[in-house]
Amino acid sequence: MPVLVMKFGGTSVATPDRIKRAAKRVGVEVAKGYDVIVIVSAMSGETNKLVGYVEETSPLFDAREYDAVVSSGENVTAGLMALTLQEMDIPARSWQGWQVPVMTTSAHSSARIEDIPPDNITARFAQGMRVAVVAGFQGISPEGRITTLGRGGSDTTAVAFAAAFGAERCDIYTDVDGVYTTDPRICDKARKLDRIAFEEMLELASLGAKVLQTRSVELAMRYNVKLRVLSSFEEQSDEAGTLVCDEEEIMESNVVSGVAYSRDEAKMTLLSVADRPGIASIIFGALSDAGVNVDMIVQNISEEGRTDMTFSLPTNQVARAERAMNDIRGKDLNFAELVTDDNVCKVSVVGIGMRSQSGVAAKMFKVLSDEGINIRVITTSEIKISVLIDRKYMELAVQALHDAFELEKAA
Ligand code: ADP
Ligand code: ASP
Ligand code: MG
Repeated sequence: MPVLVMKFGGTSVATPDRIKRAAKRVGVEVAKGYDVIVIVSAMSGETNKLVGYVEETSPLFDAREYDAVVSSGENVTAGLMALTLQEMDIPARSWQGWQVPVMTTSAHSSARIEDIPPDNITARFAQGMRVAVVAGFQGISPEGRITTLGRGGSDTTAVAFAAAFGAERCDIYTDVDGVYTTDPRICDKARKLDRIAFEEMLELASLGAKVLQTRSVELAMRYNVKLRVLSSFEEQSDEAGTLVCDEEEIMESNVVSGVAYSRDEAKMTLLSVADRPGIASIIFGALSDAGVNVDMIVQNISEEGRTDMTFSLPTNQVARAERAMNDIRGKDLNFAELVTDDNVCKVSVVGIGMRSQSGVAAKMFKVLSDEGINIRVITTSEIKISVLIDRKYMELAVQALHDAFELEKAA
């Protein structure tokens, strides 16, 4: 029988009653003749609560135990979903990641899925089981320890199962009815897209649009998974939601197709470092060894052999980065001062149309300047432009850019 993957995010499984509604949707697909793999997130708020417990218990936690704790939210919803389906007389059982097994790397808290042998679940489908409910976000390392896939990782679990089982489709049920031109929660003019190209979705996700985890889009692109994002609260139809697909499958699109933001960014500047070969390597080598994910980098013009080096990073990595810089200070690196600003955010415009049309950057900078917003750092790639600005201007910048690029109108 054909296989379908259905993933339900935190708000869609927030209570036993919501789980019942989700299970009814699963029942509809089972009745159509699909064997269904359901991937569940933890109940909304649960993962944050568990992360909070870990941080309260051990600020410099052992990442293996962090994973043991934060993966547990999904175990609860997987069991409850299987019970709910059984109550509906649908043959179902739950699986934790290690039972499948979802084999991952040992990079705790941000592990990557390496393999999902389908045999166990396929054998159960052959015996008449109709729904395999799998706890998302978790796996098992080669050392036999529980791992997690990074925040939002259930999306990636879902796409990886769709690839491993050759599923006809991977449906991501969430609390919005598709992918929008920007986050509908901060811009009421945001428009739902019927289709979005993999590459654009990849950029939007990696620049902060959390509707899909970046890695899930990468996997869908690589394995050609038919990926759809839709609401678990609205009427079901085959046309609902947003299809993430190849560029060729989209007829018309705007030059800019979306605006993304990432709220919790910080900026650090090392004042007066020597301007000589090897300095960047020392700084960013030490940051990398400390597990800091540096994003944007700017080096100032040097004066009398000294320069300033600025970089951006997630706010929750500031303490680690400061420690790493202070550890090498006076040994491998001399600097006058380390200045941290953890009140910035990143706003980006994305669109494959930018490859062939110039002027997008100029327009973006003009819009921000008209709003009196100072740009701290800029980076660009072929299909995106990102700026670091003060966090208090985040909503304003997103809305002004959405207006200026007329994203409320379809191409
Ligand atoms: P889930 O718990 O179902 O995985 P998430 O909270 O991870 O849901 O992702 C859905 C949220 O993503 C939406 O509620 C919305 O606020 C946010 N979001 C950000 N950017 C976008 C966008 N471009 N389109 C749709 N949703 C977006
Ligand atoms: N529950 C996890 C999180 O909140 C994984 C997910 O929902 O995708 O990040
Ligand atoms: Mg999510």
